[in-house]
Amino acid sequence: MPEGDTIARLAASVRERVAGATVESMIVRHPRLATVDLTGSTLTKTSSHGKHLFLHFDDGKALHIHLLMQGKVVFGRAREVEEWRRRFEIRFNTGETVVGIDIPLLHHVSSSSTDDFVGHLGTDLCGDLDLELATTKVGRDPGRHLSAALLDQRNVAGFGNIYAVDTPFICGVSPFTRVGDVDDVGALIAIGAALIRTNAVRGPQNTTGRRLHLTEHWMLNIKRRDCPLCGGDVKKMSGSQSPWQRRTAWCTTCQRDRNHTIDRERAAKLLSMHPARHLLDLRQAHPFIGDLGAVEINSR
Ligand SMILES: [Zn+2]
Repeated sequence: MPEGDTIARLAASVRERVAGATVESMIVRHPRLATVDLTGSTLTKTSSHGKHLFLHFDDGKALHIHLLMQGKVVFGRAREVEEWRRRFEIRFNTGETVVGIDIPLLHHVSSSSTDDFVGHLGTDLCGDLDLELATTKVGRDPGRHLSAALLDQRNVAGFGNIYAVDTPFICGVSPFTRVGDVDDVGALIAIGAALIRTNAVRGPQNTTGRRLHLTEHWMLNIKRRDCPLCGGDVKKMSGSQSPWQRRTAWCTTCQRDRNHTIDRERAAKLLSMHPARHLLDLRQAHPFIGDLGAVEINSR
């Protein structure tokens, strides 16, 4: 599923490739956009918040796109994809074509009304992040499972399952830990934020720091049954089994239920190869030290 970093990267690449270009033709295969024709409009900018993407045009309107689990936005004609799945095709005067495939949520809205779609969401992990606010909101329901609280976009916008599974692993706590029991949830969010912001800029979604050009995770999608760190048993749960309806994985040895302390030494070790470490000083009470502007990805 596309997470906040994927969307921020997509917003940046659409901006880099077609900002300032004019729509030459448009084909729409989505009932909500049946009467929309952007021909003649110029794409002025893109923006994103969490998993929501907006393409803004010079007529004061924007396309609001949410990819949910299955959607994709690609460049090129995507002729290999069946026509009915290409929900929109926008051809620009520069020769570029932007195609939305299998996109379930699509709206044509006023550029000034984007808050109607994202105003209820938490602070944007890949944008103008307020870590203190994120920490307060994630912790506001102390009885909630940690992963469930991280995934709730109303608390903080952008984390998907990769970060909800791998950040607890990096910190040595269980995804099942109750948020109120975690002794420093702010440090955990800072570590997750450093990872997702770094991946949003450089991609792909890598949490290990090894083979950085590949999507590689510590726990989610792990094939082996033993923990890559301690050799203990890795347990997995499907989305239909987990209380928060998303699949999960954890090490029964180094993520015991009774571990309530964010293990900063462990986190430093596990991030020692990942460029996200440059945004963190795990010896500090507030470990996020990256200049947020240095990873400015979503405000141009
Ligand atoms: Zn382990």
